[in-house]
Amino acid sequence: METQMLIGASFENGQDAEENILDPKTGNSIVKLPEASTEQVDRAVAAARKAFESWSRTTPAERSVYLLKIADRIENETDNFSALEALNCGKPINAVRNDEIPAIVDCYRFFAGAVRCMPGNSAGEYMANHTSMIRRDPIGVVASIAPWNYPLMMMAWKLAPAIGGGNTVVFKPSEQTPLTALKLAKILADELPEGVVNVVLGRGDSVGNALINHDGVDMISITGDVATGKKILQAAARSVKRTHLELGGKAPVIVFDDADLGSVVDGVRTFGYYNAGQDCTAACRIYAGPKIYDKLVADLSSAVSTIKYANTDDGTNEIGPLISPRQRDRVASFVQRASDLDHIEITTGGKPGEGEGFFYQPTVVAGALQTDEIVRREVFGPVVSVTRFSDTDEAVAWANDSDYGLASSVWTRDVGRAMRCAARLRYGCTWINTHFMLVNEMPHGGLKQSGYGKDMSLYALEDYTAVRHVMIAH
Ligand code: NAD
Repeated sequence: METQMLIGASFENGQDAEENILDPKTGNSIVKLPEASTEQVDRAVAAARKAFESWSRTTPAERSVYLLKIADRIENETDNFSALEALNCGKPINAVRNDEIPAIVDCYRFFAGAVRCMPGNSAGEYMANHTSMIRRDPIGVVASIAPWNYPLMMMAWKLAPAIGGGNTVVFKPSEQTPLTALKLAKILADELPEGVVNVVLGRGDSVGNALINHDGVDMISITGDVATGKKILQAAARSVKRTHLELGGKAPVIVFDDADLGSVVDGVRTFGYYNAGQDCTAACRIYAGPKIYDKLVADLSSAVSTIKYANTDDGTNEIGPLISPRQRDRVASFVQRASDLDHIEITTGGKPGEGEGFFYQPTVVAGALQTDEIVRREVFGPVVSVTRFSDTDEAVAWANDSDYGLASSVWTRDVGRAMRCAARLRYGCTWINTHFMLVNEMPHGGLKQSGYGKDMSLYALEDYTAVRHVMIAH
């Protein structure tokens, strides 16, 4: 297991407070890792600044080759990366091996192609005797800060467009899930020129805070909580750094009476509980039409009660535990407060899992009202609420009545109604008759307090590059 940070070309132990990295399936300690000192953060930023001078002048074709090599190296080590991610996050190993690693590899490969075909306006004489052209140039040193729910995937979403666009990076994984980032750092040190990517360890309010306030950082990219995003914006304001914020979500799932009930139940059973619901796009807030509501609650509860978790044989697990005891207790307290309300019925689940580890039972909260906390706040656990609506306007209004604006879905056999709803929903993504499906060619990112800036797609490359105008008089 790799335990050292990457600063320039050197692998180093952190020098400050130790973080105890836990196995969420058992609660046992995996390893204790010291975090970076301020001096180490300074050196990581300096290494990235130095590397920027030459990396920013490489051609897209050259950077493409580097990205392809990183993709191949991850793919060749699929089993090792899967085992490590499963250990650190408690994820079922099959989910990492079959879903996450292929998507991560494809992310590097997508950007390897995309950097070579950046679109732009035509050069031309927009003023007599002057030729104008548009450039898209790298921004500089990016501080990339990742959450714990998909550590290696968030790293791919952040690194590939940033270095593909000619920037250099100081990457900080979540203090809870740094293990695959440290393993990838070894590969990055083999494949990339010194300093293009640096990996530092530490908590948000120490190492994260040092990074976002660093004068040598030009852009901050964070995936995390809304409260963290607000702190980033305050820090960025000091020196007007660029920001890229992927924050929380509370995805509404509008199910009309004419929807295919079997597909809805299958879909929510999968997309509401995947990664134990620790997903900012999780299908967690159902609005069901008046006629389909009762059958939906009954069938969904019965389907959710069969989700496999907490088995000793991880190969049969469909979902894993929550990341920490704190997160499990937080989820439990949301469900407890909901179940205290007379109009709410917990139709399945509703308790922490038995035995070791930070498991929580897959839970359905029926009879929830729009004003209830369980409908309004991000639970980030295996908990789905169901609310009955009376007509389309009410469903769309309730769906939009949220601080969040990341993802949503509409389930109906009426294509016209689906398209009209999609147009009215204030979410970065709307799926129709599905949920959660992501492809590297299409953007992922939010509206409202879910943040701004896109991951994946050509739009991410736009976010990690600056538009410049060059004009020649002749
Ligand atoms: P978090 O905000 O606590 O931490 C995210 C990262 O920010 C960590 O690396 C943390 O160390 C760092 N951080 C925390 N405080 C900081 C500070 N003051 N300065 C600098 N860095 C700081 O979030 P989390 O608990 O790790 O992740 C869960 C959250 O992430 C959820 O709210 C979830 O919705 C969100 N999320 C969003 C997306 C998306 O694409 N929109 C994807 C995954 C997760």
